[in-house]
Amino acid sequence: MIDGLRGAGFDAYLVGGCVRDLLLGRTPKDFDIASDATPEEVRAVFPRVRIVGRRFRIAHVHVRREVIEVSTFRRAHDDDGHRPLMSSQGVILRDNAYGAIDEDAFRRDFTANALYYDPIEHVLLDYCDGLKDIEDRTLRVIGDPERRFREDPVRILRAVRFAAKLGLKLHHETERAIAPTRAMLDAIPPARLFDEFGKLFMGGAGEQTFELLQKHDLTSHLIPSGQHGGDLARLALANTDQRIREGKPVTPGFLLAAFLWPEFARRTEGIKPRKANEEELDSAAMAVLAEQQSTLAIPRRHGYFVREVWRLQPALARRTAKNVTRVLTHRRFRAAYDFLLLRCAVDEELRELADWWTEAQTLDPDDLAESLPRERPSRRRRRRYARGKRRAGTPMATANGAAAAP
Ligand code: ATP
Ligand code: MG
Repeated sequence: MIDGLRGAGFDAYLVGGCVRDLLLGRTPKDFDIASDATPEEVRAVFPRVRIVGRRFRIAHVHVRREVIEVSTFRRAHDDDGHRPLMSSQGVILRDNAYGAIDEDAFRRDFTANALYYDPIEHVLLDYCDGLKDIEDRTLRVIGDPERRFREDPVRILRAVRFAAKLGLKLHHETERAIAPTRAMLDAIPPARLFDEFGKLFMGGAGEQTFELLQKHDLTSHLIPSGQHGGDLARLALANTDQRIREGKPVTPGFLLAAFLWPEFARRTEGIKPRKANEEELDSAAMAVLAEQQSTLAIPRRHGYFVREVWRLQPALARRTAKNVTRVLTHRRFRAAYDFLLLRCAVDEELRELADWWTEAQTLDPDDLAESLPRERPSRRRRRRYARGKRRAGTPMATANGAAAAP
């Protein structure tokens, strides 16, 4: 790749995350290239190139199954009248002024992300003292942190993501710039925020990332109704991190279900988890999801996933022969069962139910029928039971710990 561009007379370096990760002794997840070739010029050099991006035009070069991003050197913008398109609040909307490599370095977000490596001559170009910060395990915004966060508030989330994932500490001035600028995240397009949601929580260090987000009061700017997700969110993230370590598939739907569960539980407090109420519960689920959309654009398929997992929670509590068969064969049974285990970790009352389902999956149909709770309580006992339950909170609420939430 690099030699291809060089052969065509252009300058080209590895840049950003891959150089940073290599210096930190980690395996880069992909390789980005910076070059003085424009996207069109890159397209003329390689056979399979797509030019993508509006805010930021980049050439995607397809090499076998991989995509390598080639970005053109760009300049910082407050020089000689080449201003990028800005919103009234100082947010960069479009930024395609090409520049020289040293200018390109200074428009990047963190010093650790602004290192250029030439793998042919083995030269590292360091215009922003990034190497020293990497050695000190420090993440530092290039330039004035507050101004850089205002220009693009997503950089705040990127700071948290890199710090958590790579075990870096935030430089104190970088850290101090978060509080005055974090409200600007509310103006970020919901689709971009969902993109970042995935990177924050599906990168293998979701739990640490969540801690840092909480520490800096950022969760509510990312997922407004999820800010009270606390324990359940933490457990879901630990679960996702673990699955990533084991190479198992993960989905943001599972995390969203956990983040938003307390809000769903709060809204459905008075509704009994009966079959007859499924529609009503699902409408509440849709309302909870809809409320996030103006901040976080949750793609439809993930919204469905959340609704199915939630809808199966009361269904898991109805251990009748017919219902158990239905639930066991539901395509989201596995996810719903995993979700029940999470809830069980914050609410001991669910232990017996969770254990029953653990067991039920190992039984053949005859034994399963045998293991169903047989006795139906007498009318009187049933009523007393219901009253006792209500005192401790409705079945839905006790079952998720919402009643105990502050
Ligand atoms: P990852 O490991 O997540 O890919 P990365 O550092 O490569 O990390 P990318 O989003 O791929 O992150 O971006 C590549 C490079 O582009 C970054 O290293 C940084 O130099 C620059 N960059 C990306 N986003 C921004 C931004 N919002 N503001 C300034 N520079 C950015
Ligand atoms: Mg990258």
